[in-house]
Amino acid sequence: MIPRLYCKDNLSAGASVTLPPSQSHYLTTVLRRTVGSAVLVFNEENGEFRGALDSIRKGAAVVLCQDFVRSAEPGADIWLLFAPIKRTPADLMAQKATELGVRLLQPIFTQHTIVNRVNLERLRANALEAAEQCDRLDIPAILPPETLEKRLVSWPEDRWLVVADETGAGIPMAELPARYGAERAAPWALLIGPEGGFHGDELKMLAAHPKVIRVSLGKRVLRADTAALAALAVWQAVLGDWRA
Ligand code: SAM
Repeated sequence: MIPRLYCKDNLSAGASVTLPPSQSHYLTTVLRRTVGSAVLVFNEENGEFRGALDSIRKGAAVVLCQDFVRSAEPGADIWLLFAPIKRTPADLMAQKATELGVRLLQPIFTQHTIVNRVNLERLRANALEAAEQCDRLDIPAILPPETLEKRLVSWPEDRWLVVADETGAGIPMAELPARYGAERAAPWALLIGPEGGFHGDELKMLAAHPKVIRVSLGKRVLRADTAALAALAVWQAVLGDWRA
């Protein structure tokens, strides 16, 4: 398999790009690729190029871009907002949400949020690794954490916010296309609450917001990471880019 690496530099046929230490190490030491080996490099602006490992200078791998492969095609416009969770499920959620096509990830502090520190660099690294593996050309944006209250105040007027409401007060998620099918082309977002669930005041605030749609994910209480990935999969299937 040809290694596929995200590269921020300007890519074009004939350009040489020097990979940062972590990618150089991965390519030359972990994958044991040598000069001449095929490599794919990509970014959202320039697309994907097939190239070859051209040299290894003081541990830094230099890739020569050769043939243009394809340009970036943005997927459905869906964000994932989530109350911070512990490290292992957060890693998994960032990776899988990237595979499921989210354009943006943002931690949201709620009243019952237990985890109070968020490692944005770790989120970014997980998203990047997942994008490299799943053939995406863009990396989800990672926004710094914000409180739920502040996030709702500055909420974009055109973006629907689907809130996974564990109390069962929302509509079944599969009913979204029947009720909001006309909004398919609009931008969307999902919000997943903390381990302790949303506070009653937060549920009232969410219910009163004009862009919020509360949904149920069934009778079982799902872990936050399960809820996020299940909701994203359903959204992609009924309103997103899994449709024909
Ligand atoms: N402590 C809460 C309780 O016992 O009801 C459960 C919180 S759950 C672990 C974390 C988040 O996942 C919830 O805030 C919600 O956003 C989502 N979630 C879990 N199960 C859900 C369901 N059946 N329907 C909708 N959302 C759900």
